[in-house]
Amino acid sequence: MGKWVYLFEEGNASMRDLLGGKGAGLAEMTNIGLPVPPGFTITTEVCNLYMEKGEKIIEELWPMVLENIKIVEEKTGKKFAAKSGLPLLFSVRSGAKFSMPGMMDTVLNIGLNDETVELFSKESSNPRLAYDSYRRLVQMFGDIVLDMGLQPFENELENMKAKKGIKYDVELSAEDLKELIKRYFDIYKRFNKEFPQDPFVQLKMAIEAVFKSWNAPRAITYRKINNIPNDLGTAVNVVTMVFGNMGNDSATGVAFTRDPKKGDKGVFGEYLVNAQGEDVVAGIRTPKPIIELKKEMPSVYDELLKFCKVLEEHYKDMQDIEFTIEKGKLYMLQVRTGKRTPGAAVKLAMDFLNEGLINEEEAILRVEPSQVDFLLHPRIDVSSKLQSIAKGLGASPGAATGKVVFDADLAAKMSDEDVILVRPETVPDDIHGLAAAKGVLTARGGMTSHAAVVARGMGKPAVVGAESIKIDLKERLFTVNGETVKEFDVITIDGTSGNIFKGVAPLIMPELSEDLKNLLSLSDKLAKIQVRANADTPEDAKRSYEFGAKGIGLCRTEHMFMAQDRLPAMQEMIVAETIEERKAALEKLLPMQREDFYGIFKEMKGYPVIIRLLDPPLHEFLPKREILKEEIAQHEKNGEKDLVEKKKRLLRRAEALKESNPMMGFRGCRLGLVYPEINEMQVRAILEAAAMVIKEGDKVFPEIMVPLVGHINEIRLVREKLEEVAKEVISEQGIQIPYLFGTMIELPRAALKADEIAKYARFFSFGTNDLTQMTFGFSRDDAESKFLPVYLERGILPVNPFQTLDRDGVGELMRIAVERGRKANKELEIGICGEHGGDPESIAFCYEIGLDYVSCSPFRVPVARLAAARATILAKRQYEADK
Ligand code: ADP
Ligand code: MG
Ligand code: MG
Repeated sequence: MGKWVYLFEEGNASMRDLLGGKGAGLAEMTNIGLPVPPGFTITTEVCNLYMEKGEKIIEELWPMVLENIKIVEEKTGKKFAAKSGLPLLFSVRSGAKFSMPGMMDTVLNIGLNDETVELFSKESSNPRLAYDSYRRLVQMFGDIVLDMGLQPFENELENMKAKKGIKYDVELSAEDLKELIKRYFDIYKRFNKEFPQDPFVQLKMAIEAVFKSWNAPRAITYRKINNIPNDLGTAVNVVTMVFGNMGNDSATGVAFTRDPKKGDKGVFGEYLVNAQGEDVVAGIRTPKPIIELKKEMPSVYDELLKFCKVLEEHYKDMQDIEFTIEKGKLYMLQVRTGKRTPGAAVKLAMDFLNEGLINEEEAILRVEPSQVDFLLHPRIDVSSKLQSIAKGLGASPGAATGKVVFDADLAAKMSDEDVILVRPETVPDDIHGLAAAKGVLTARGGMTSHAAVVARGMGKPAVVGAESIKIDLKERLFTVNGETVKEFDVITIDGTSGNIFKGVAPLIMPELSEDLKNLLSLSDKLAKIQVRANADTPEDAKRSYEFGAKGIGLCRTEHMFMAQDRLPAMQEMIVAETIEERKAALEKLLPMQREDFYGIFKEMKGYPVIIRLLDPPLHEFLPKREILKEEIAQHEKNGEKDLVEKKKRLLRRAEALKESNPMMGFRGCRLGLVYPEINEMQVRAILEAAAMVIKEGDKVFPEIMVPLVGHINEIRLVREKLEEVAKEVISEQGIQIPYLFGTMIELPRAALKADEIAKYARFFSFGTNDLTQMTFGFSRDDAESKFLPVYLERGILPVNPFQTLDRDGVGELMRIAVERGRKANKELEIGICGEHGGDPESIAFCYEIGLDYVSCSPFRVPVARLAAARATILAKRQYEADK
């Protein structure tokens, strides 16, 4: 193991693994010349070693800590545990590789005791500062290091304020604070704990507490939710204290270098005068927006803006910073990449690209597919007449509807349902509830409160600081303007406007912003795998085209037969007893199908449209047998002879078509092989529609897809028959009509025999829903409702294979099919039309195995476009890294 302790000037931004995010940030800022109070970082490796070997590691570490304290003493000219002069004080701050609100955060003012506090008071000529700092230390130490909780201290503070008849703790005098510290020590007594007077003992205990917090239950939960490995460990930062609580020329604040909500330019943040540490986010007093600093401390404001610019240009991304102003001098205490809303993520990516700070690939990697998904989520329809019952701060955009729940445990328990977590404010311990809720509403806190920050990170709607709602946690209800909302009542929150509605508010679908459109065009340019859509109607085709689909990967024709006006003709076709009867019924369906296809072709403006020939078992088009029986009885009662006959015929047919396992039954190409007239009609309709489009001077490119092929003879026979129809239509129409014949690959046998099948198919489309069912032998509905949850819980399967492609099994079959298919037919076009086509992970896999396109539902198209580009870029980078 290398060095255990790094001075800030010895580290840099690339050392996050070793120094944690906070430590790496402090080091980087120090090295680019920003004013960071001197300090040092104990590495994550030491934490891991401590986990393994325990206390003796602290003893081994100690001489190194002392050595570094000396260096800091020299730099600052102050002494830790001083007997004279201004005493040196430290903050002890945890900081893992990834920001983790689940851990012990920070103890400030370490080094104060009954003696040094006097010294501090005298030397600074600011007794209030000294005792305020001391009482904070005693409080934080008791709460964080000795686990006594915050509440007993908060209670005493409240009592003190009440006794003095004041509202804010800044109004407490030095004498009041002295008295408060006494009472704090009484709390220690009650808990049978002792406050260590020796500064070195304070420091040692705080460092050890940080190490231990890595394995605190809420930290473990946080890591689980966020997929953070358990073996990273946390670093410990020991930082010279600077004081925002020195008076009215001092302050503490947080800022983003741009607006994290919209992505707009300009520093965005809050600060509090005469305050320390987390006062600004804890909702103790209402913080002021950064812009006020321009008036209050103009030169500090200018400096802050300058530092923000330096940091953005250095990190090439929007940053989130913490700063403190001590008597007009600005110090930087933290920097990290700023969390942002999905909308801001897109805008920031495009702005940074346009400003020349990042390149196109970088811009695409800046936005997660899930963020694009979020932007396609519904918003509340403002034109609806629904009255909001209250308004807070819109802290994380989007709308969420759910049952009100007042505690995080209950929210977590109800994770199957849509719930809105409603709290006075949230704390890191609520993380599991926030993760489970659809949205969060708090009565207190600002745009940088815990709830706001966490919700934005999770991409969840949040309304915070809705001060007009009065939450009664005992009665489990809240009241607002005379209205009462009880637990489990349904509300809707709008994290964009901050409005709160009773009940379910009507939602509308959003439009793509200009920035998002640009980002997606960029994605199309860089992606080496295309995106098509699954669309069954002209309306869906239109939306797909608008969302940027480069074709239709799957148009299911069965939906067209389900429509009210078509079902009777369809049923006639099914009950037909002779070919003539069947043909007569199909004659009626032909013009309707032709019209459907025409509409879809027109909308897709010459992009390929894959139409799947009839796939589901025929009984799906007939009424349920029980219902038919009831109806027959009713008609008999009414003496309606004709109807009785008609229904009996349907029933006989339904009985005959009954299957014990329809998923593996009389469906797919099997239908077309037994009743070829159906396919013939469909192919005729497709090509006649195409001819109409061509004759209007437009482009069209139909691809005809045969479902559920498993054997070469199936596709061969179907295709031979259908080519005859195609020839016929082409000669009737007297024009050339482009078209392709192909098949779905949705049976393991088809994948294995892809070389044979490819002789008769010009394209393959992986139907991965069925392929997954058939490969696992899972019936999806049964799996998802009965045993898959157990499988996932126990880790028997890592993910739901119906959501994310099973690379190892189903994926292996796909790989085989691509390889064998392409070998037999160089021209083979291959895509995927299962639901996996919209899942970023699965899209990356499809790219890896060389598919030409993925196809997904219209609303997933933008997500898939970005995912396709990211897959291309990341694979390229991986390839380069491996070289
Ligand atoms: P978190 O990770 O929870 O933000 P931090 O370690 O950043 O915890 O610290 C909590 C608060 O204390 C922040 O507001 C930070 O700016 C402040 N703080 C930390 N160290 C110092 C210091 N040396 N001097 C003054 N304020 C500090
Ligand atoms: Mg904190
Ligand atoms: Mg911080």
